[in-house]
Amino acid sequence: MQSSAAPELTRAMKTTNPVYTGVPTTVFEVMTRLANEHDSVNLGQGFPDTDGPADVLEVAAAALREGPNQYPPMPGLSDLRRAVAEAQARFYGLEVDWQSEVLVTSGATEALSDCIMALTEPGDEVVLIEPLYDCYAPLIRRAGAVPRLVRLAPPAWRLDLDALAAAFGPRTKAILLNNPLNPAARVFHETELTAIADLVARHDAFAICDEVYEHIVYDGQEHRPLITFKDMRERCLKIGSAGKTLSMTGWKVGYIVAAPALLAPVIKAHQFTTFTTPPNLQAAVAYGLRKDDRYYAGLAGDFQAKRDRLAAGLTDLGFGVAGCQGTYFLTADIGEVSGGLDDVEFCRRMTEEAGVTALPMSAFYAERPPTRAIRFCFAKRDAVLDEAVERIAAWIGRGLIAS
Ligand code: PMP
Ligand code: GLN
Repeated sequence: MQSSAAPELTRAMKTTNPVYTGVPTTVFEVMTRLANEHDSVNLGQGFPDTDGPADVLEVAAAALREGPNQYPPMPGLSDLRRAVAEAQARFYGLEVDWQSEVLVTSGATEALSDCIMALTEPGDEVVLIEPLYDCYAPLIRRAGAVPRLVRLAPPAWRLDLDALAAAFGPRTKAILLNNPLNPAARVFHETELTAIADLVARHDAFAICDEVYEHIVYDGQEHRPLITFKDMRERCLKIGSAGKTLSMTGWKVGYIVAAPALLAPVIKAHQFTTFTTPPNLQAAVAYGLRKDDRYYAGLAGDFQAKRDRLAAGLTDLGFGVAGCQGTYFLTADIGEVSGGLDDVEFCRRMTEEAGVTALPMSAFYAERPPTRAIRFCFAKRDAVLDEAVERIAAWIGRGLIAS
């Protein structure tokens, strides 16, 4: 009888692609697994602990029951593409043709991958701002392109415009701009965006704009999409996600808005990647994007109160909490509380010993990471945030950190 056990490797095998062989499992998965093992309050991976609006869930459930549950059109349901176009006009005064300028994807992650695959060729350079979302650099490298990194410095996370200009050159194909910025929680201001737009135009480049947190900005600030800046309409691909806008991170429904000539090759990448996205979720997202102004004001307002609640608690405990202008993340310097542990060790021990999980900021750097900052997600019920602060206080109080 043949054995079903995995065969022993008896000879050297060909290597797999070094980009993915060389990267570790994503920090989001690693830390959520560790949090679950230790019954820890998980402020690591970014997701709300309460699902989005009940009426949106109902639309998804009804569409699932009533069907059809067969392949929707490859670029997305027409109703969702219309809703995405309407949202650009409603929030940014941007006129978009829903038929030639909107693509629905399986999450912003697929949108990012499609844009990178469709735009870049081996040897092209893509400008990235660090700290950065963890999939950017591996996707760019896998496409054969080269990341050019520009680093922001805590706690203000200001963008050095000279360093940015120096990162652009004759091989620059694109900048991948995340605004509002996860994990640094910055919303780039007018001067910074104007400088970016100027560099993109001057270098005949494109801008892949990851704006998944477009509706999660605070203190009365406005989100200004780069695509609305001078000469940017033909050069920007604006990416959104229902995961963030409707607080349904597991749905993985994303969308791209771009001029027809720029979107056309991206649609080709999409057709060979996922081809489509579950139709009931698309129908519900179309409904959700049309929710009234109260919904959108409530989304940012509720998160802002949670930001202030957690920031106050962490500051009282001695963390150096940085400002948060957008996203649902707070970054904190651990220098005063860590007893010399680095960010990775601190997050592991805080999970195992305090029962609270945060993420080491070093995971958001492609090289030479700093080691004394961590990221907390505050998109949680107030009682959960309070419990987290109490647990950390007790842990610090027990004086165990440096032991
Ligand atoms: N970009 C950023 C900056 C993110 O934080 C996330 C996390 N959700 C994504 C992209 C991926 O979004 P999605 O879940 O829609 O793929
Ligand atoms: N965007 C989320 C974060 O930054 C996580 C997404 C994921 O788990 N892949 O925490």
